[in-house]
Amino acid sequence: MPSQDTRLLAAQRRFLEREQRRAISAPQLPRALNEECGVFGMIGHTGDAAGTIALGLHALQHRGQEAAGIATFDGEQFYNEKALGLVSSHFMSEKVVSQIKGNSGIGHTRYSTTGGSGLRNVQPFYADLDRGGLALAHNGNLTNARTLRTQLIREGRIFHTTSDSEIFVKLISQSRRLSIPERIMDSLPAIEGAYALIAMTHDAMIGVRDPVGIRPLVLGKLGDAPVLASETCAFDLIGADFIREVQPGEMVICRADGSIESRQIFPPQSHARSCVFELIYFARPNSFIEDECVYELRKRLGAQLAKESPVEADVISPIPDGGVPAAIGYANETHQSYDMALIRGHYAGRTFIQPTQELRELGVARKLSPNKGVVEGKRVVLIDDSIVRGTTSKKLTRLLRRAGAKEVHFRIACPPILWPDYYGIDMPSREELMAANYTVEEIREHIGADSLAFLSVDGMYEAFGKGPRDPERPAYSDHCFTGKYPTPLTDLDRLKQVAKVEQLSFLAETS
Ligand code: AMP
Repeated sequence: MPSQDTRLLAAQRRFLEREQRRAISAPQLPRALNEECGVFGMIGHTGDAAGTIALGLHALQHRGQEAAGIATFDGEQFYNEKALGLVSSHFMSEKVVSQIKGNSGIGHTRYSTTGGSGLRNVQPFYADLDRGGLALAHNGNLTNARTLRTQLIREGRIFHTTSDSEIFVKLISQSRRLSIPERIMDSLPAIEGAYALIAMTHDAMIGVRDPVGIRPLVLGKLGDAPVLASETCAFDLIGADFIREVQPGEMVICRADGSIESRQIFPPQSHARSCVFELIYFARPNSFIEDECVYELRKRLGAQLAKESPVEADVISPIPDGGVPAAIGYANETHQSYDMALIRGHYAGRTFIQPTQELRELGVARKLSPNKGVVEGKRVVLIDDSIVRGTTSKKLTRLLRRAGAKEVHFRIACPPILWPDYYGIDMPSREELMAANYTVEEIREHIGADSLAFLSVDGMYEAFGKGPRDPERPAYSDHCFTGKYPTPLTDLDRLKQVAKVEQLSFLAETS
């Protein structure tokens, strides 16, 4: 007679097999899109806005390289132009830009990490509402998108994309309020997760940030024309002046006469906290966040890392580009020499999201070459901004050893990433996160380094001038390190519940 445990295991295996078969045969449900994006908008420009919007998007290209779009309004009609690829490959053409007319417009640059990368998912989205047109661009991920989408579909709404951002358009269009700003205000309480939104109507540009302020949105002026962007680096490129950050839960309504009206849609939250990954990895180093230069903040992470985990070495080197400021901070703090152990090739494209581990590893090698003249016979410390799957660090240790490095030490200028992000930073699932599955010593062994150390969570807060971490009111959304998510994760909880119920009923059926 098989034991109870064996029967249970066999039932579980049959359940998993059935699930696999179902996953293969079932019609594909739209998968939640995980997006990294940049948004930009302006109203009341002295000339046509499209060229300036394209430049703004170009400055935000690091936030998304897959596709871009620009929607403008010329006083009579809306124009909406979208293309796959880099901003420069489509929107720097005189011919294209001259056809997107009007003094006001918004733009979006996008990188989706799962499915749905076709043109129909490229923003801005546009809808003709009963009181005029609405163009909308969104950065961030919603954590109840599937739940809302299912509800809306059951109520008869038709979706044209698989992007969670379309939910904004649907909710705004069905609101009974009169003006579009009021309709937006009416819609947002149903939405959970991260959003920095820019909307364009026939008479206003509207910017909104979610109540927690997870994704960034900044306000500026180009002459008298109000400008909104994900990051201040976009203002630098077009010569706009930075005014201030849009506050968590705030809506700004900007008009062509230069006026800016502010409405606090959600009361100022005690748990407002922007995403710490913008500071660590995502934002351009020359951007300013909360009045601090991101580059300087990253140098401070490196200096703090040096205080926590110094190591005797001959060369302190960044993994370019992400590790550069932290390596400078580390070298300054320890008075050791900073040098480039790796030279970056600029034509390799992104390595992070490749479908297979093999391709990711090849990508790393194409992108970074060992600088033999610097590393041969030397003790090298490599500084990076993060370890996610461990692909980069493993490959680079091997490359440096082959180039003759005597010792290879790794120092990581952020704490171990233990939890996935659900708010618009591209992260794999928990199973693939190196630090979620192995101890620091096991990771060191896996990547083959002589030593490995991560920055502590409190050290990160100290470096940002906020620490140590206040567990009741952390200054940042730091869920990737702590597992403390700043919003409900409704979709995820529902999926877990469904999986549990199905598994239990299957076990009951087969026992
Ligand atoms: P991995 O090789 O998987 O350990 O990833 C770590 C490398 O990817 C580091 O060099 C980071 O600069 C970079 N990285 C970290 N987070 C992200 C992200 N969300 N998207 C793209 N690259 C990232």
